[in-house]
Amino acid sequence: MIPYGKQSINKADLASVLEVLQSDWLTQGPMVPKFEREVANKVGAEYAIAVNSGTSALHIACLALGLGPRDYLWTSPNTFVASANCALYCGAKIDFVDINPHTYNICPAALKLKLEQAERHGCLPKIVIPVHFSGQACEMDKIKELANRYKFKIIEDASHAFGGRYKDLPIGNSAYSDITIFSFHPVKIITTAEGGMAVTNNEKLAKRMQLLRSHGVTRDPKLMLHNKNEPWYYEQINLGFNYRMTDLQAALGLSQLTRLTDFVEKRHYLASAYNKELQDLPLILPFQHKDTFSSYHLYVIQVNTHRTSLPRNILFKKLQNANIGVNLHYIPVHTQPYYQSLGFLRGNFPRSEHYADHAISLPMYPGLTEEEQKYIINQLKLFLG
Ligand SMILES: *Cc1c(COP(=O)(O)O)cnc(C)c1O
Repeated sequence: MIPYGKQSINKADLASVLEVLQSDWLTQGPMVPKFEREVANKVGAEYAIAVNSGTSALHIACLALGLGPRDYLWTSPNTFVASANCALYCGAKIDFVDINPHTYNICPAALKLKLEQAERHGCLPKIVIPVHFSGQACEMDKIKELANRYKFKIIEDASHAFGGRYKDLPIGNSAYSDITIFSFHPVKIITTAEGGMAVTNNEKLAKRMQLLRSHGVTRDPKLMLHNKNEPWYYEQINLGFNYRMTDLQAALGLSQLTRLTDFVEKRHYLASAYNKELQDLPLILPFQHKDTFSSYHLYVIQVNTHRTSLPRNILFKKLQNANIGVNLHYIPVHTQPYYQSLGFLRGNFPRSEHYADHAISLPMYPGLTEEEQKYIINQLKLFLG
């Protein structure tokens, strides 16, 4: 089976992890701050906080921004459930904003309309999480303008978008947001097995997230309530978690980081081959907004039902039976049984639902060979021709 996504591990990665395994530090030693500095430099952010998953990064980002009961958080329905679950972890209320039918990202016009209604009803969101779906940035200039007008905070969920750019600047420089988070899960752009990172230019938010990552415990005398000048003394000043990244993971991340440009280049190469070879089939290919440079975490096609009678579900199964590991990103979050139990209904966000009824993610990862890609393309031509 050709998978839809896969990590790329080379000898340097193995050596990097092995070296740490034989060192004095297995967890949060010298590799974690080194990885944090290099990621911060790479994306042009002041501060970076490494954690054990992208989900943990979302959680501490929400807490650092003060999200709590009675607050609202809004995100896109076309995302992994973690982008919405982080609100519920904080006891806050969740709501969604439908997508733009071309970018599959949160729609700024729909956001504006929903904000106008929320203002009338006194239930404006405290945080909005734009998700850079498939690696393509959201229209951050418009979202930031609305944030200034309606006073909400922005967390960019850039789990897909490490190595991507917006208006020619790296995603993660947080010019349009308070915090940006990345995931280093094996299918994402670079991997640390499990792992994630929150980046920000705000020192206060960075300090809060550092505390929350490790039990809310500090050894910094400036933060302590009772500054006892004793070498053994530490204080818990907040309710934090154990969300730490290990040094093994950071070593893998550091090694992977040296190949970021190659990874993204290879993904672009594969995307242009798909674009070229699939253009005459009854498919809708990924639209690229002029302000964005995607990291192409995903290559999503939609079946164009105006031009073919072959239903998506049949095409999906045909591809699977041909040993092509296609996937669906995403079943809209509000249609998940758990979210339906909170009161959301099918029909609430029709553009996300329409998209999800037609979409298929094709295999896309640096190790996909030309031969494998040709096979995938030929199978699609066979089924749709
Ligand atoms: C992968 C992903 C996450 C969660 O990341 P983990 O590292 O798996 O916890 C969150 N949001 C989106 C959009 C993702 O794709």
